[in-house]
Amino acid sequence: MSHLGRPEGRQEKYSLKPVLPVLEKLLGKKVLFADDCLGEATEKMAAALKPGEILLLENVRFYPEEEGKPILPETATDEEKKAAKSALKVKQKELAKKLSTYADIYVNDAFGTAHRAHGTTAVIADYYPEDKRMFGFLINSELAAMDKVLHNPQRPFTAIMGGAKVSDKILLIENLLNRVDNLIIGGGMTYTFVKAMGGKIGNSLCEADKLDLALSLINKAKEKGVKLYLPVDSLNGDKFDNEANTNITAIDAVPDGWMGLDIAEKTIQKFSEVIGNSKTILWNGPMGVFEMEKFSKGTTAIAKAIAAVTAKGAYSLIGGGDSVAAVNKYGLADKVSYVSTGGGAMLEYMEGKKLPGITAIRGE
Ligand code: AMP
Repeated sequence: MSHLGRPEGRQEKYSLKPVLPVLEKLLGKKVLFADDCLGEATEKMAAALKPGEILLLENVRFYPEEEGKPILPETATDEEKKAAKSALKVKQKELAKKLSTYADIYVNDAFGTAHRAHGTTAVIADYYPEDKRMFGFLINSELAAMDKVLHNPQRPFTAIMGGAKVSDKILLIENLLNRVDNLIIGGGMTYTFVKAMGGKIGNSLCEADKLDLALSLINKAKEKGVKLYLPVDSLNGDKFDNEANTNITAIDAVPDGWMGLDIAEKTIQKFSEVIGNSKTILWNGPMGVFEMEKFSKGTTAIAKAIAAVTAKGAYSLIGGGDSVAAVNKYGLADKVSYVSTGGGAMLEYMEGKKLPGITAIRGE
């Protein structure tokens, strides 16, 4: 059983049917298909399965109780929303219980949704005894990679944080400050730090309400003896466009009318040196607007530095949609130690949060 996309009720474009021939090819055998995950006909198909036979169920998200998010008109009041949600929670348990009767063993391999308490990713585990519920190979390897970095890193351990906003990564940065030796900050979030320290950032991305937070992170790093590396120079554009005119300035001297869109040469050199001396690397978030060729050099260089130090024996874990996309784009995915498949799930686990899909199975 699986979900696909975010259907609102039964929507054929989110059917799992197109998956069937691919699954059959990969498994090298016929796969049966139930065009509804619930219902008498499907129950019969499940009950009739013989050892070795496989049944694929239609998208479990065709039922809103899977996610537990009611489909309501926009005019619904808060009270109506609350009532609908708790009614749906009851139905979510029923759905999970029913699906659990189809199979003897529950294997969860959906790491990308492990941070959600959905019917088939978490609730269903309650209906299996401990020895009949388990992770698949993917979740197992994701956990092994993250635990290695979090709990057993070879030092020096360097975390590289990038991407647009510091607000998305506060908890992660705070947790990492207890663990890393070096913290490298790049990407759009840089400029909030620079502004907080009194620098000139022109029109660069800035979260004006996070300046205090940026300063407190800088102080926390000092207190904990973590070396914090911010970019020293900035590749600026006069517009957010691949055709923009560019110049390079010190990171705290971005002229009015310009915005910092990538790290520049001196920063690339410094960051690459720190990465080159590390034994464990965690990378989340691009160093610039890497989707635009003109502003992709910093992200490419960092990806290459990580690949190079991995070849020398360091352990590197790459997570977050954009850094993964970058590593794939430059053909470096097999030159780093582990590329995570979970954006939000990885972030939350690395923040130290408990993920419902994980605790449902390992019970902690
Ligand atoms: P996130 O989803 O927070 O990891 O952010 C990824 C996005 O940040 C990418 O789409 C990048 O284009 C964007 N980004 C990185 N650096 C900058 C920058 N200096 N200015 C604006 N956007 C940036």
